[in-house]
Amino acid sequence: MLVKGVAFYLASELPFEAKSLLEDFRLAVNNAVRAGLQARVTSRNALCRIAYKDFREQHPRMYAQHLVSAFEVAGGVLKNHRRRVRKGVTSRIPFVKRLMMKAENQAFKLDRKTGIIDLPIRAGYHVELRLVVSQYHRKYLDDMSLSLGSLTVLPGRVIVAFRKDAPKPYTPDSVISLDTNERSLDGVFVTDDAGMAVKAEFPDIATIQQRHHDRRKRLQKKKAHDRRTSKNLCRREGLREHRRVDYRLHQVANSVLKFAEERKSAIVLEDLKGMRRKRSKELNRRLSMWPRRKLHQIIEYKAQWKGIPVFKVDPRNSSRTCPTCGRMQHSRMGTEFACECGWHLDGHVNASINLLQTAISKGMAGGLRFNPGAFQHDVMMILYEPAMAARSEPNGTSSIVGVS
Ligand SMILES: [Zn+2]
Repeated sequence: MLVKGVAFYLASELPFEAKSLLEDFRLAVNNAVRAGLQARVTSRNALCRIAYKDFREQHPRMYAQHLVSAFEVAGGVLKNHRRRVRKGVTSRIPFVKRLMMKAENQAFKLDRKTGIIDLPIRAGYHVELRLVVSQYHRKYLDDMSLSLGSLTVLPGRVIVAFRKDAPKPYTPDSVISLDTNERSLDGVFVTDDAGMAVKAEFPDIATIQQRHHDRRKRLQKKKAHDRRTSKNLCRREGLREHRRVDYRLHQVANSVLKFAEERKSAIVLEDLKGMRRKRSKELNRRLSMWPRRKLHQIIEYKAQWKGIPVFKVDPRNSSRTCPTCGRMQHSRMGTEFACECGWHLDGHVNASINLLQTAISKGMAGGLRFNPGAFQHDVMMILYEPAMAARSEPNGTSSIVGVS
C-alpha cells in the first residue's frame, strides 16, 4: 500500500474547540511517552493498557479514538528514541512540543466534493474544517481509486493521507540511467536504436547548503555566550535550508519522472547505500550527501506511485570502467573519460553507462541493449535546469508519508 500525504490550508482559523483538542492530544502523547519509558513498552496496545485509564479520568470527554491514536503517535516517538539510544546517539527524554493531532480514517469524515472535514471533538460535539482546495488538491480528492488514510491536524494546516495499491510497473521501451552528483544528475537515455546524454542540473542546492552552513557557523560563533539562543537560531536556519533544498529536489524529481513516463522508460540509479561514508575532514563533504539520498528517495517513491520501474545498482567501479572494451582505468581521470580503445566521453555520463550495463547484465532493463555505435556524442537533452523553476507547479507542499 502506498501512502501520500497532501497538505491543505484551512479557509479559516482553527476553531477554539479544535485548538484545545490539539493541546489535549499533545498532553496524552507526552503522558503516554512518560508511562512507556517507565514501563519499557512502545507498542500502541501496551501503552493503551498502562496509560488509558489515568488519562481517561482526567479527560473523561475526549473522543476515545483520538486517545488511541495519541498512543500510536507516542509509540512512534518511543521507538525513535529507542533507536537513537541503541545507536549511541545521545537522546534526551522525548517530549513532543509541536501542537498536533492525528486521527485515523474512522475518526473523521471528509466530504471529497466540498472539501469539508467533520472532526469529532468529544461525544456529541463535532467541528467543521473547511479546506482550501486548489487544482492540485482536486487531483487527489476526485480520484476515487485513492482511499483516505489518516488526518493530521496542525495549527495552520492539515495533512490528509491518500492511499492506493502500488500499480504494477510498466514494461519499459527505453531506459534512463543516471549518475548522481553534487550538482547534477548526468546520464544517458537509451532506446533500441539510439542513445544520448541527458542532464538535470541543480547547482543551487550545493550553493544553498554552503550558504546555510556558513551562516550556522557564524551564528555559533556570535552567540557562543548563549548556547540556547544559538541552538534555536541554528535549528531555524536548518529548517529553512531543508525547505529550500526539498522544494528543488521535488522539482528535479518531477522533471525526470515526467520524461520517463512520456517515453515509457525505466530509471536506473546507483545504490547510494553501498557508498561508504568517507571519513570527513571537511564537514562540507558530509553535508552534500543527504540531498542526493533524498533525491533518490523522492524519485523512487514518486515512480512507485506512477508505476515507473526503477532499478538500483551497485556503483562500484562505474567511474573507472570503459563500457565498450571493459578495461579499467587505475588512476582517477579529469572530467573526461578516455580509454586506450578510443572510447571517450564525459566522465559522469560514462559512469551512467556503466550503471546501465550493470542493470542490463542483471536482466533489469528487459531486452534493451546499450549500443556504443548508436550513441550520439553531440546530443544532450536537458531534463531540468534552474531556469525551469520559474515555471513551477502551484503545490510544492506534498510530502512523503511512508509505505506500508
Ligand atoms: Zn575501452
